[in-house]
Amino acid sequence: MAQLQNYIDGEFRPSVATESIPVTNPANQVVLTEAPLTTSHEIDRAVTAAQVAFEAWRSVPAPERARCLMRYQMLLKEKQDEIAEILSLETGKIFADAQGDVWRGIEVVEQACNIPSLMMGETVENVARGIDTYSIIQPLGVCVGITPFNFPAMIPLWMFPLAVAAGNTFILKPSEQDPLTPNKLVEFFYECGFPKDVLQVVHGGKDQVDALITHDNVKAVSFVGSVPVGQHVYRLGTDRLKRVQCLAGAKNHLVVMPDAAKEQAINALVSSSVGAAGQRCMAVSVAVLVGEAQEWLTDLKDAMAAVSPGVWDDEGAAYGPQISVAARERVLGYIEQGKAEGANCLLDGSSCQVEGMPDGNWVGPTLFADVTTDMSIYQDEIFGPVLVTVSADTLDEAIEIINRNSFGNGVSLFTSSGGAARKFQSEIQVGQVGINVPIPVPLPFFSFTGWKNSFFGDHHAYGKQAVRFYTETKTVTARWYDDDAIADTNMTIRLN
Ligand code: NAD
Repeated sequence: MAQLQNYIDGEFRPSVATESIPVTNPANQVVLTEAPLTTSHEIDRAVTAAQVAFEAWRSVPAPERARCLMRYQMLLKEKQDEIAEILSLETGKIFADAQGDVWRGIEVVEQACNIPSLMMGETVENVARGIDTYSIIQPLGVCVGITPFNFPAMIPLWMFPLAVAAGNTFILKPSEQDPLTPNKLVEFFYECGFPKDVLQVVHGGKDQVDALITHDNVKAVSFVGSVPVGQHVYRLGTDRLKRVQCLAGAKNHLVVMPDAAKEQAINALVSSSVGAAGQRCMAVSVAVLVGEAQEWLTDLKDAMAAVSPGVWDDEGAAYGPQISVAARERVLGYIEQGKAEGANCLLDGSSCQVEGMPDGNWVGPTLFADVTTDMSIYQDEIFGPVLVTVSADTLDEAIEIINRNSFGNGVSLFTSSGGAARKFQSEIQVGQVGINVPIPVPLPFFSFTGWKNSFFGDHHAYGKQAVRFYTETKTVTARWYDDDAIADTNMTIRLN
């Protein structure tokens, strides 16, 4: 089996590592490639090359850097389906989801094309007589990105386009579970006129992540992944006084008020809970049914039972497999635990099979009722097509339940009352709020703003906040002496 290559020091090259991790197609377990556990010597070589490249790249005028990104945006659009096919192969995502994964990344490249405006500083004339103060925005140096398996195109593209647009160089350590897509993104990057080593990719797992974060020449670390790993990355980086942003796990609620549009609310619950096999950090995994909306459970169950997983090019499939055998077992473990804890399993996807694909990591739509907030299926991120429902008598009670939850990535309210919506958006302690929108992921001119245990750091991913994250602000206070000014000053002195 061919080993996947790293891009280090000017070219794609095989690693000298003796150990690697198999990358499998989760629909049939066929091994697609091996991701090398890159050696620390190779990682050092990548950081050194990135440092050298930074010195030249930071001096390239911002409009020229933007033009490289414009070419990249056009090429990615042209290659969207080619990338999406590779993405479907290694994640099992249905093709529409894979196309969406690439597209949401392209949108961030579009945002990065705007870098000259995004790097504008501020000026105040005459802060004192004859003195002006202005700020200039400068890149940091070598930045690192560590990405999860669930969006192998979009999440790397949340990071490196803005980082390099701002004049930094970037090293990507993608998930070892689906590294083919990120390699393709890097390959296309170098077809767009970027100088060598502005972007590099190294493969591996924990040891490679730790080696990158602890390298003296790495200035900033962007991480997206689970809570325990996010906490580890945040501590490791900030202990060494690096700039770190960690986007972590989630448990997202969708509140259904009795005055909501019933059909739309049920459709939203189905698509946002089982879509992408529940492997989205913004997936809805808890439905909070308020008052009479609790009577809609049977309709919700019927709607969930009507969808099923399938292979990537099956147009009738609603979603694909879990990413790995271990991920499937973890989800099945939670389903058993939910039953053991006394929740009512209305729909059990544990024994789901897809015709002709007996080895796939399939889990069918699963729905629990009578769930209480002390149960593990309520508290933990399951990351599968499992929806739990809890009941509330009032909107206030629903808000209280959600605000007690340790996560704060996304939340949604379905209602026809503007007053209820306004109260909800004001009082809810979650960073991304949807009103009659189930998955409120902001477009890249905003930022991705998870709260609580869903985010560790200050500046969020993409948008203006990411430009702040990848740059340093310098303020200049300046006075210029010219002949007239000197004459004026002398005159003033004489008059005095
Ligand atoms: P993960 O935490 O297992 O892995 C993420 C990255 O960290 C990978 O590159 C992996 O190689 C590396 N890693 C794994 N273990 C490590 C360790 N012990 N030390 C250092 N690095 C390590 O996450 P995953 O399973 O790939 O992705 C799913 C998780 O990501 C979910 O929790 C999901 O909610 C979260 N996620 C969050 C967001 C967000 O925006 N908040 C977006 C996407 C995914």
